[in-house]
Amino acid sequence: MTEIISRFAPSPTGRLHLGHAYSALLAHDYARERGGTFLLRIEDIDPGRARPEHVEGIFEDLRWLGLAWDGEVLFQSRRLHLYAEALDRLKAQGLVYPCFCTRSAIAAEIAASASAPHGPDGPLYPGTCRRLPEAERTRRAASEPHAWRLDVAKASALAGPLYWHDGDTEVLAEPQAAGDVILARKDAPTSYHLAVTVDDAAQRVTDVVRGRDLYPATDIHRLLQSLLAFPTPHYHHHPLLLDAEGRRLAKRTGAPALAELRAGGADPGEIVSALRSGRLPEGCRREEA
Ligand code: GLU
Repeated sequence: MTEIISRFAPSPTGRLHLGHAYSALLAHDYARERGGTFLLRIEDIDPGRARPEHVEGIFEDLRWLGLAWDGEVLFQSRRLHLYAEALDRLKAQGLVYPCFCTRSAIAAEIAASASAPHGPDGPLYPGTCRRLPEAERTRRAASEPHAWRLDVAKASALAGPLYWHDGDTEVLAEPQAAGDVILARKDAPTSYHLAVTVDDAAQRVTDVVRGRDLYPATDIHRLLQSLLAFPTPHYHHHPLLLDAEGRRLAKRTGAPALAELRAGGADPGEIVSALRSGRLPEGCRREEA
């Protein structure tokens, strides 16, 4: 039997709150209940938002909760060359193109169009740079800052129909719903989608346990796995924790950080057993299944 490997992969852009604790706990228990391995990966590719003090905070909070990870922590910021190699493989297949658009130019183009298609994260990229003539693309790429986008229609046609599992349910991937996603940003030589796909394969993750907010992203990850000849893990998207107003727990809407709960004398054992049994703390509930 294959050894089970799960992971918790937070972005160190703020302190962890109960929503993160829930996700980490589910990923941890999934592996531990099956005699498997639980990994910790720090997704610190966002140069504007990732902070070393939040990395320390993640270590502290997980230790406080008693969630021990196995082996060395993997830092995405130290693996940029591997994401660049994966991108080169997609470049060689003609499946990505440089994008010179600014956010405001994209917004203006969307506003001017009568029927901008929408994906899970809002209006889709209108494909402006996909239509650039080859000569202009090459000339501008030599001097202008650019991101790299996946030509999702071309990539999907090449890959053919793709499926993945969410728990026991087989899901048909529809990566085109997300449009031509960014695989390398102007300010970082990768993006979430590319880095997470490369690392889940490199760490031989068999089971991805993560929040339901990332369910639509899985279609893109499945497509990238096919293009890069990586295995496909099993996915287990869990319901999110919501606050009293029904909003997803978030620091910005007042969810207390675990560090604040700790400072207030909270008992980590009680938090963990409450999260495990579904007896959620006051003012907090689980999204409907
Ligand atoms: N780094 C992502 C986040 O903090 C999670 C990535 C994943 O679990 O795939 O939202």
